[in-house]
Amino acid sequence: MVTDVINTNELHKVDPVFGQLSFDNHEQVVFCNDKDTGLKAIIGIHNTVLGPALGGTRMWNYTNEWEALNDVLRLSRGMTYKSAITGLNLGGGKAVLIGDAKTQKTPELMRKFGEFVHSLSGKYITAEDVGMTTADMDTVREVTPYVTGISESIGGSGNPSPITGYGVFMGMKAAAKFRFGTDVLEDKVVFVQGIGNVGETVVEHLVNEGAKVTITDINQERLEEVKKKYGVSIYEGNDLYSEEMDIYAPCALGATINDDTINKFKTKVIAGAANNQLAVEAVHGKLLQDKGIVYAPDFLINAGGIINVYAELEGYDRKEIMRKTENIYNTTLEILNNAKANNITANQAALNIAQNRIDARKAENKR
Ligand code: NAD
Repeated sequence: MVTDVINTNELHKVDPVFGQLSFDNHEQVVFCNDKDTGLKAIIGIHNTVLGPALGGTRMWNYTNEWEALNDVLRLSRGMTYKSAITGLNLGGGKAVLIGDAKTQKTPELMRKFGEFVHSLSGKYITAEDVGMTTADMDTVREVTPYVTGISESIGGSGNPSPITGYGVFMGMKAAAKFRFGTDVLEDKVVFVQGIGNVGETVVEHLVNEGAKVTITDINQERLEEVKKKYGVSIYEGNDLYSEEMDIYAPCALGATINDDTINKFKTKVIAGAANNQLAVEAVHGKLLQDKGIVYAPDFLINAGGIINVYAELEGYDRKEIMRKTENIYNTTLEILNNAKANNITANQAALNIAQNRIDARKAENKR
């Protein structure tokens, strides 16, 4: 199974929270518990220098609490850099709910979670992530205004996934331009791993452009549905990472670029929606660079969703959302060129630019 989690068996050997690598100077971590609804949640607030910490809520059946904690810390840190590089005045935060979204998610549990979000007085603003729907955000909205991604009928921006998918497609085209000299994806062999809300949109754009798309998912029904709708192939093998392809698009969960997969890759480009694709950023980012694989940083190219929900807070329109999302193409190309010029990984180049923006604001705030 793919999770955003690494080496959880080893985690108990370090200090539980502050000592974790993924803690990385979080401002606040909030543990939420409610016996009546069965709610067990963790909210990570990584950084609020640029604005309130905005990031989705994920519900996942974690094997243990270490996994959940590590996941939320990695995800909220990622949100800090995502908003910073996208030029939004938002900080980074994220929440995880421990449990099976199919069987344990109830309106009562979502409302209770909303009450915890509300208790933070807007320091953390939530949204959708894996295991959540727009309807769940509407339930949270009943008890707190600190939620985005609510239905359009009640003043929200609706499901952010199609915009995220479009942004990923833009980032993928930029990476193709860098690697192949053209951003036209016609006839390019692309494997899309995970064809959920975002993955399906990526498939749609790829098919419209004439790419040769193969899909994988753990949900057989979804595979058949998407195959029928777009005429794409379902992957029949058992080692996707070893396959010859032009582009690998991870659109399921994170950490698929790891010690086990890194030496298998034959792809030329990696560009996908999943958060935290590099199991250990510095290690696996560098190994990809050494292998000549062009990697479009995940937190840069999957920012369409946050651009979309940010519009709810700032009140800008659809045209501006699309303009900002299309700009992911330019930023990605800029970062890949910057990385090449400075002989650093693309991930590091993106992090540097994001961190510079945060540091500049911090200095400004001190004046
Ligand atoms: P989703 O839950 O709708 O889809 C995920 C899909 O991945 C599901 O179809 C699931 O069955 C599949 N999957 C899970 N494990 C798999 C595995 N091992 N192999 C293959 N498929 C597997 O989620 P989504 O909203 O499409 O998000 C996908 C990814 O993009 C997540 O990592 C999410 O954090 C990230 N992301 C989403 C948004 C957004 O706007 N929804 C924004 C930014 C980042």
